[in-house]
Amino acid sequence: GLAEKLQGTFDKLRGKGKLSEEDVKAALREVKLALLEADVNFRVVKNFIKDIEERAIGQEVLESLTPGQQVVKIVNEELTELMGGTQSKLTLASNPPTVIMLVGLQGAGKTTTVGKLAKNLHNKGRRPLLVAADIYRPAAIKQLQVLGERLEQPVFTMGDKQDPVDIAKAGVSHAESNGRDVVIIDTAGRLHIDEKLMGELKNIKKAVKPHEILLVVDSMTGQDAVNVAENFDDALGVDGVVLTKLDGDARGGAALSIREVTGKPIKFSGIGEKLDDLEPFHPDRMASRILGMGDVLSLIEKAEQNIDAEKAKALEEKLRKEEFTLEDFLDQMDQVRNMGPLDQIMDMLPGMGDIKKLKGVNMDENHLDRIEAIINSMTLEERRNPDIINGSRRRRIAQGSGTEVQDINRLLKQFKQTKKMMKQVGDMQKGVGKGGLKG
Ligand code: GDP
Ligand code: MG
Repeated sequence: GLAEKLQGTFDKLRGKGKLSEEDVKAALREVKLALLEADVNFRVVKNFIKDIEERAIGQEVLESLTPGQQVVKIVNEELTELMGGTQSKLTLASNPPTVIMLVGLQGAGKTTTVGKLAKNLHNKGRRPLLVAADIYRPAAIKQLQVLGERLEQPVFTMGDKQDPVDIAKAGVSHAESNGRDVVIIDTAGRLHIDEKLMGELKNIKKAVKPHEILLVVDSMTGQDAVNVAENFDDALGVDGVVLTKLDGDARGGAALSIREVTGKPIKFSGIGEKLDDLEPFHPDRMASRILGMGDVLSLIEKAEQNIDAEKAKALEEKLRKEEFTLEDFLDQMDQVRNMGPLDQIMDMLPGMGDIKKLKGVNMDENHLDRIEAIINSMTLEERRNPDIINGSRRRRIAQGSGTEVQDINRLLKQFKQTKKMMKQVGDMQKGVGKGGLKG
């Protein structure tokens, strides 16, 4: 994938002490190829590389003590910028109800996203009303009703015999008279963009004047997703994009191109089929993820939602102070178990993405059990200061935990890698925060 390719390139750069202009150019050629292979729009890649080259070949970078790091930092900043710089939030009406209209092709994930958004907003204390304005797709209304039941949130329908424009209008009135403060309208899609689809959407837009028109696109379709976004924006005008199925998109091309091509921000990403699988889109975190730096911030946010807020705060503090110990590692493992799909969480932990891929390492529940047993067999001192764990201590721990010495070796190595990655992310954030290139 893209992350591995970029990491390989950057490892080479970091490995060199001094960088020449030619070193940087060679690295950027590799970055360019990796981006094109990831299905990023050609025009976007060209401009992106040009911007980085201009910054990276400057004196202060090449003559700094850590030129490789500086180049990576610049790439990180430019990637973030490419995806819009800062997080773009939903517009909520000062005078409720806020009307949100979801549009997109069939199968992009509109109806699912209506449910996810309703859950997200309800969690924040809002009172959503789901409106079923897709009268064409068989069972679309039922699908929304099932979601509403699971969320215990009301769904407004008028069956499939009425005009979607009338349904949308009546839905908004219903919200007004029933104290619902966010109306989320599910609309119909087609397999391809056509005049009839656009005409209907335009009429709904005219009738209910939505505060947000969110375009839902399937990231798995790569460049097509970008074309769809361009077309919808030209014909209808959209306020933001929800990029779905990011969990299945190994390439990342759509995420990197949409903002630059359409000028419209990605506001949310869909990362699975479940109602919790919606995340606010953070360009900086996405950039770190693409660069294989792990996504500590999203992890912390997820931790905050699912676990004890106090614990999450403490973890964040430790990450910042680089005081992360094996005890914390154990604690984290425990929390990971409460947080849902292991794979998804692992991808967010620095270094874990790599560990998952190592041969012979099976990141399943059994593996977690083993890690837990190993750490439990260590003394407090060993957990806080793993450097003291010599050969005889390793044998004792292996015996105590019913594992082999090589398991202990592997765990300690993983822990070291994790710590190193965390430090890198920490340094990078410090650097970006100051806005300077010297560091
Ligand atoms: P619509 O036609 O645009 O309303 O699309 P649906 O909401 O019915 O979704 C189509 C399919 O995509 C369903 O099987 C969803 O479960 C699936 N889907 C939607 N969002 C995501 C996502 O973020 N990740 C994954 N893996 N599947 C998704
Ligand atoms: Mg639908």
